[in-house]
Amino acid sequence: MIVAMTGVSGNMGREALIQTLELQFVNKLKVLLTPRKKNNKLARKLKSKYGRRVEVIRGWLSDAETCRALVADTDIVVNMAAVIPPHSDKNPKASYMCNQLGAMRLADAVASMHHQAKLIHTSTVAVYGNRTMQHPWGRVGDPLLPAVYDNYALHKMLAERYVIESNVKNWAVLRQTAMLYDGIIFANISDGLLFHTTLNGPLEWVTARDSGFLIKRIIECEHSGVLQNFWNKVYDISGGRENRRTGYDTFADGFSIMGGSPNTYFRPDWCQTRNFHGLWYADGGELNRMFGYQRESVSGFWQEMGKKYRIFKAAKYIPSSVISLLVFRRLLGDANSPRKWLKKGDAGRILAAYGSREAAVSVPSDWSGYSLAVPADYGSDEESPELKFKDKLLCHGYDESKSVDEWSLADMNEAATFRGGKCLSKEYVSPRSKLLWQCSEGHTFSAAPYTVLGAGHWCPFCAPEPWKFDKLAKKSPFYAQVWYDSHDKSENISYWFDKSGKACFEFISEEEQ
Ligand SMILES: [Zn+2]
Repeated sequence: MIVAMTGVSGNMGREALIQTLELQFVNKLKVLLTPRKKNNKLARKLKSKYGRRVEVIRGWLSDAETCRALVADTDIVVNMAAVIPPHSDKNPKASYMCNQLGAMRLADAVASMHHQAKLIHTSTVAVYGNRTMQHPWGRVGDPLLPAVYDNYALHKMLAERYVIESNVKNWAVLRQTAMLYDGIIFANISDGLLFHTTLNGPLEWVTARDSGFLIKRIIECEHSGVLQNFWNKVYDISGGRENRRTGYDTFADGFSIMGGSPNTYFRPDWCQTRNFHGLWYADGGELNRMFGYQRESVSGFWQEMGKKYRIFKAAKYIPSSVISLLVFRRLLGDANSPRKWLKKGDAGRILAAYGSREAAVSVPSDWSGYSLAVPADYGSDEESPELKFKDKLLCHGYDESKSVDEWSLADMNEAATFRGGKCLSKEYVSPRSKLLWQCSEGHTFSAAPYTVLGAGHWCPFCAPEPWKFDKLAKKSPFYAQVWYDSHDKSENISYWFDKSGKACFEFISEEEQ
């Protein structure tokens, strides 16, 4: 078997590479590394460790020729390349080139192969957008409401749609959840992004090692021919019951190895209150039942980190006020920090992150005045959330007791109405045969039934900038059921970036609604 991988310089990709090469039937692993100088060392290391078994291809994912060279003669292609926040915030073009255009070019390259490889495409939990404890449980098919100003989520959402709608005969989209990896603390104490985390929002963690193991298991099962009904579906990667947390708990887990806590290091009003992403998975069991990849727990991960890195042990001897000052307070002045937006009057960012300036300044500055959600009160430790919380899941707007093979035109009409639009086609063929749809704004577009009903995508003209979910939710019960968990019905704002990258917004007039 010949496998191709992108993103092997990243945390998930590194693990996927190491573990896939444990499979003796993988004769060759082709990896794409960008021509950046920092990848020279990795290229040499891979050559010396694995010899001819690893073939390194240098080039950009957005280059069609490079993609064709990468996928040539392969059986499975795994796309794990990503430009993630805060880099995607600072360099939107790099985010577009890798996360969207690169993924599209790779899918095109696979689709043009004489003997097509199977394509595993990694997407992200960020496509679902903000969640609160009103609807902590999510699953594939839920509406895609990526956070305002989040280039990464937007480009990833458009990329996965392209893969789903492509001519690739066998694909799988894996929406990756929040991921734990060795350098996670160091990576997150250099940017105001840390404070984008909502303290009471749901988060479910998986380790990079388990994510890499999942890729290995998929390849293993594909090789032994035991995979049934796996391809041509979207899945959520998840961590399982032991790994469900809130944003606050996540900080508490990480800081505990330094002997501290969020309470000793920072204040609750440093974090935004919405416009983040993260959920607990009602459908997380699906991939785990197939591949048994959920092996590591959040608590086990942090214990290991505490033992592995002496610096965290040393930090226990430093007064928490000093760590607070040197590590966290310093980030408040970062351009990506919500407190910085407030200071310089960045109105668009404040509206997106809090709802209003008043809401932002009224967040308690003291932990004693801040009410923290207790995950167990919301069933975080439930083994079978898909059954237990069936009535708390978001509605997808059609009879979900039917299997995909039982779908009919009536289901398409029902789902379109729930999204504020129409299905214009008069004949239904199959889940992958495209139909014509119309959104609430009058755009006409084509999409496969699975893309809409199965994967939660809708109008591609409404999806990109400007972000105007305030307007769309007024006509779409599908969006409204979750949008108003963290937005007020009176809000009516359109958000976009101008050419210089400035976060802009405007109030949508009544006539325009
Ligand atoms: Zn539209």
